[in-house]
Amino acid sequence: MLDSLFRPKSAAVIGASTKEFSIGNRVIRNLVDFGFKGPIYPINPKTDEVRGIKAYKSILDAPDNIDVVHMVIPAKFVPQAVEDCGKKDVKNIIINSGGFSEIGPEGEAFEKDFMARAKNYGIRVLGPNCQGIINTDPDVRAYCNFTFTKPEIGHISIVALSGGVAEVIHQGFSAMGVGTRIYASNGNACDITIPEIIQYLGDDDGTRVIVTYVEGLRDPSTFMKVAREVAAKKPILAMKAGRTAEGAKAAASHTGGLAKEDLATDLIFKKAGVLTFMDEGELIQAAAAFATQPIPKGNRIGLITNTGGPAVIATDILVGAELSIPPLSDKTEATLKESLFPEASVNNPVDVLATGNAAHYRACMDAMNADDNYDALYINLVTPFFVDTDSIAKEIAAVNQQAIKPMVCNLMTDKNQWTETVRILKEGGVPSFSLPGEAARAMTALVRYSAIRSRNIGQPDSFDDVDKSLAQGIIDKASAAGSKFLPSADVYRILEAYKIPTAGWRMAVSAEAAASAAEEIGFPVVVKADAAAIVHKSDMGGVAVNLPDSQSVQAAVKDMQARFEAPDLKFFVQKYVAGGMEVILGAKAEPGLGHLIMFGMGGIYVEVLKDVVFNLTPVTRFEAEEMLDTIRLAPLLKGVRGQKGVLRAGLVEVIQRLSQLVSDVPAIQELDLNPTLAFEDEIVVVDARIGL
Ligand code: ADP
Ligand code: MG
Repeated sequence: MLDSLFRPKSAAVIGASTKEFSIGNRVIRNLVDFGFKGPIYPINPKTDEVRGIKAYKSILDAPDNIDVVHMVIPAKFVPQAVEDCGKKDVKNIIINSGGFSEIGPEGEAFEKDFMARAKNYGIRVLGPNCQGIINTDPDVRAYCNFTFTKPEIGHISIVALSGGVAEVIHQGFSAMGVGTRIYASNGNACDITIPEIIQYLGDDDGTRVIVTYVEGLRDPSTFMKVAREVAAKKPILAMKAGRTAEGAKAAASHTGGLAKEDLATDLIFKKAGVLTFMDEGELIQAAAAFATQPIPKGNRIGLITNTGGPAVIATDILVGAELSIPPLSDKTEATLKESLFPEASVNNPVDVLATGNAAHYRACMDAMNADDNYDALYINLVTPFFVDTDSIAKEIAAVNQQAIKPMVCNLMTDKNQWTETVRILKEGGVPSFSLPGEAARAMTALVRYSAIRSRNIGQPDSFDDVDKSLAQGIIDKASAAGSKFLPSADVYRILEAYKIPTAGWRMAVSAEAAASAAEEIGFPVVVKADAAAIVHKSDMGGVAVNLPDSQSVQAAVKDMQARFEAPDLKFFVQKYVAGGMEVILGAKAEPGLGHLIMFGMGGIYVEVLKDVVFNLTPVTRFEAEEMLDTIRLAPLLKGVRGQKGVLRAGLVEVIQRLSQLVSDVPAIQELDLNPTLAFEDEIVVVDARIGL
C-alpha cells in the first residue's frame, strides 16, 4: 500500500538548503505554504535551521519512522543516504535528484546500489529524477514536490512519468479553476510504477477521475490488468505521445521511458476501457467535465443558447463526432413556446435570444431534462450587459446540482468583469469553457466514455477441440533445429490441430508423386514450389493455379524443377478453391503482451488500401466481430448490391482460434494466413506461413 507515501504524517528533506532558489529549499517552502499536517525535518550538516525550521545534521539524528524523505543530493551520495534511512525505519523516499539510469551506465550503477539497499529495508522509492507527489486532502495537505502549481481541492488525480507534462496538465486545471486531488510524477520509476499508482488512485475515494500521460508502457501486461480493473470503477483519461518516429525518439531519450509500439498502447487502452486523447488541451478540458458530471446514458444532446453562431459551431463538432441532436418532442416544444419570447427559436438548439433571462434558461433545462429524447445538455451563455447573467448562472448551477443529466457550459464572457457569473458556475460545479468547441469536445469525451462503459467485450471463447501438444511439439522441434520459417507441411498440421479450415493438400517430391497426390485431392488443384529459400511463391513463379488434370500437374512441376535450384525443393499440391473473397488474417508476437491479431482485406487490397485492423490476444467474440465491422471495406463482408456476403461467424471463429493458437504456443513470432478465402458458407485458408 502506498498510503504512507500519499498520506504522509511526517516529511524530511535530505539536502535541505538555505538558498532560496534551490530544490532543497523549495520543497520545504511548498510543504509549509500548503499547510502540511505533519512535522517537517530539514536535514543539513551545515546549518541549524532552514526557513525557520530546526534542521538535523543527519537523518540519523532526526526522529524515527518518517513517512517520506526527499533526497536532493548528488547521485553518488544517494546509496549511503538510503542506507541511513533504512536504519531509521523510513517508509518512503522521493529521490528528486537526477544523475541515474537516465545518464548512462555510471548513473545506472548508483540506481542499482540504492535500490538494493531500499529493498533490503523494505523502503519504497519514488523516482529518481522525479518531482514527487501532492495530496490536497484537507487531512493531509502534502506538497512533497518542488513544482509551483498551487492546486485547489478537487477530484481529479494526475499521474505521469514525465514531470514536465504532469505539471502542464496541473497548470491547465489550475488555470480553469478546477481542483485536483492527488498528483504523482515518478521520473525513472525504478521502484514505484505507474500501474501501482493507478491502482492506489483507484482505491482512493477522493479521486473521481484519473488522468495519465504515457510515452510507452514499460510493463504493458501489468498496465493492462490494473487499468482494466480500475477503469471498471472510475474513468481513466490517457494521452499517449511519441506517435511519430521523431516523437518516439524524443521520448526514448528522456526519462529513460521507452516509447514502444504505438499501436499496441492504443490497443491496450481500448481493451482496458481507458479513454484516450491526442491532445493535452482536450484531455484537460474533458477531465474538468468528468470531475463533476455523471456519465451520459447515450449520445443525444440538447443545446440551449442565447446566440446563434456558437451553437452552430458546437453542433458541427458534436455531429462530426457522431453525437446526435434530436428535435424537441411535441411536449417540450409546446412548453417552450409558452415559456420563451415569441421570437425565440424553439428547436434544437433552442435559441432563447440575447435578451433571454434566467427563467427562460431554466425552462429550457427543465424541459430537456424531462424529455426522453436527450441524454445530456450543452449550454451556451454569452453575457450581454442588459441581462442579469448572475441569475442565469444560478439557475444553471441549481439544475447542475440536481445531477439529472450531464451538462457542459460554454461561457463567453470577459472573466475580469463578469466575475460573479464565473464564480457561481464554478462553485456550482458546472464545467465551463471559453469556446464553443472546447465545451463541445468535452461533451464528446463524456459520450465517448459512455460508449466505452457500455462496451462489454466478454470473455474469449475457449475451444477444447484443439491439439495443443501437437502444435507445441512441431514448434519445439523447429525451434531446436533453428528454423526461421516452418515448412509448409508443419504449418498446415498446426492449423489443422486448431481446426482452422484449410484447403486439402499433399506434399510431393516429383512430378509423378504430385500427379497422384492431385488424384487423391481431386481436380482442379494448385501446385506450389516449396523450399526454405522460397518466400513469396507467386512473385517467383512458384504457384500454378487451376490445374485440371494429371498432365498439367506434371507439366507445372517439371517447369518449376527447371527454374528453381533449391536442393530442398518439394511441391505443395493443394485443392484449387475457385472464387471467394480474399481476406488476410495474421498474428505477431508483442513482447510482454501476447500477440497482435490482424484481420483485413487480402489480395491486392492489403497492399493498396492497407485495410487491416488489429487487436490484442485474447480476442473475444465481441472483439472479433468488431474487427470485421471496423475495416473500411466492412460492407463487402456483409454483401453489397446484390452480391452475397461471407460467413461472418466462420471468420469470427477463425480469428478466435488463431488467438488461442498463438496464446497457447507463444513461440510463434508471426503467422500469416494470406489469403484466406471467405465464401457465403465456408472459410478456407489457402496460404499460410509461420515464423519463429
Ligand atoms: P504467395 O503468397 O507465396 O505468393 P499463395 O499461396 O498465396 O502464394 O498464392 C498466390 C495466390 O494464388 C493467392 O493469393 C491466391 O489468389 C491464389 N491461390 C493460391 N492457392 C490457391 C488455392 N488453393 N485456390 C485458389 N486460389 C489460390
Ligand atoms: Mg499468399
